[in-house]
Amino acid sequence: MTHIEQVIQAFGKHGAEHLEAERRKSTADSLQAILSWGAVLPLSLCRLAHGMIGILDLDETSLLFGVAEAAKMPSWLVEFQGESSEVQGLRVVMAEMSPANAAVLRQLVPHTRPQTLGLKPTFGFGDRIGLATSGHVLAMDAAGERIIPIFAQQSIREMSRTARTAREVIDDATWGVFRAGWVRPFGADADHLKTTSDVEMTAQAGFVFFTIDPSEYVDQHVENYNQNKIEQRFQNLIDSSIEGAPDFINLYLDKTFKIEKEQETIRVTFDEIALKRAAIKYGRALDHTYQMAHHVAKVMGSKPFELELSVDETAQPTSILEHLFVALELKRHAIPIISIAPRFVGDFEKGIDYKGDVSLFEKSLIQHMAIAEQYGPYKIGVHSGSDKFSIYPSIGRICKGRFHVKTAGTSYLEALRVVCRKDKEFFRSIINFARSRFAKDRESYHLSAGLDRVPEAGKLKDNELERTYLDQDHGRQILHVTFGSVLTESTNGHYRFRERIRKILLQNQHLHEDVLRHHLGKHISLLLV
Ligand SMILES: [Zn+2]
Repeated sequence: MTHIEQVIQAFGKHGAEHLEAERRKSTADSLQAILSWGAVLPLSLCRLAHGMIGILDLDETSLLFGVAEAAKMPSWLVEFQGESSEVQGLRVVMAEMSPANAAVLRQLVPHTRPQTLGLKPTFGFGDRIGLATSGHVLAMDAAGERIIPIFAQQSIREMSRTARTAREVIDDATWGVFRAGWVRPFGADADHLKTTSDVEMTAQAGFVFFTIDPSEYVDQHVENYNQNKIEQRFQNLIDSSIEGAPDFINLYLDKTFKIEKEQETIRVTFDEIALKRAAIKYGRALDHTYQMAHHVAKVMGSKPFELELSVDETAQPTSILEHLFVALELKRHAIPIISIAPRFVGDFEKGIDYKGDVSLFEKSLIQHMAIAEQYGPYKIGVHSGSDKFSIYPSIGRICKGRFHVKTAGTSYLEALRVVCRKDKEFFRSIINFARSRFAKDRESYHLSAGLDRVPEAGKLKDNELERTYLDQDHGRQILHVTFGSVLTESTNGHYRFRERIRKILLQNQHLHEDVLRHHLGKHISLLLV
């Protein structure tokens, strides 16, 4: 059989379908012989009516190609914007990985579109550079269908710090899943949305999961209020027409709610002070959440969507009574929440393991989970999940699949690991720059790293760099929190680090995929107990 015949034989009849494993390699070889430049990625090959599309890797960039029988000329082929030519009876289109072509790809290949995932266990792989998805796909190997990935997950803060748009985040995930041949469902989480315009911008880009973050409306000082102040603030909720507030006393005062755990029943009673404190702490936040949730519903119209409520970025842990109050109020207002991310006990510092008493964490997680089951059902959201290895088995075991875990910074650090292994001097310059920005950039994060705890890059030997800055806590945190500064620093209209980082990642795609598979795969395996 000739190469052309081999390729034509793999063409499709109807809808989109990635090639079966035993056919990929030989078809890619034949396409390679015909297209003759770049490397055809076997995993990307996807048949469409009378033709096929796939990804072609060039030195530092990639293209989407479409091939079809010239005589049949299917209509989908002309939808891609690119250069068209004829090669031995085949019509070939070479198309850039542009936003327009990503949109066409999502139309033609349904499994490249993010979906809603219901109560199934989900794991968020935040990707701040936009080149990590194919490595994240490999990290999912261990999970089978027991965990569903969220390949597009970015908070508004991350998007503004990296100067990426919501659409770019979605597009990068689209290309990533297509490239890696991911055909199962995946999600897209617009994380930490604070305003209605955040909702509009991310909905328009194609996100389907919306994390509402009302933490600016959480009263973080309620623990310190005396009786007088509590009365005053509580009355204030009612006077300022906070949704639901006039009913709080009637509905909850001195009422006892049962929370059934496996072996015991917890009884939670809202005595006057506890009720008023919970109302003051979360009343305004709930009011804001309703407005945000209604706005999501309005913007999404008939399209399916999911909502998370996150209060993880507050100073004090969310108590069981507070969680119950929030759950009851959300239910009363018929807000369809799929996940709640409380602020847990212990410290969830960025990019390093959990700090705190694991047995206390477990004890509180069991209670949070029991509320979620009984007064939802919804999943428990665990944010800042990067490298929280010591509690992952507990999350897997206690949540029994009802979890929504998020990571992000750890994939950025793995990208820097590739940079470190491939270009030590450049990595040193990133460290120096990160150190110069650390004092400012750390302000919005909760962490314990200090510059004086880690030697400067110039004082470290080549073989000490990776261990010191990517394996040890202080070094990791210095690099972790400065991602925005590093990725957006520019001179004369050029990004000082970002372009070179991307170039190194593109030139070393296999190494990049490999470190992600290893490190994020460890996260996934520990959840699967
Ligand atoms: Zn969060």
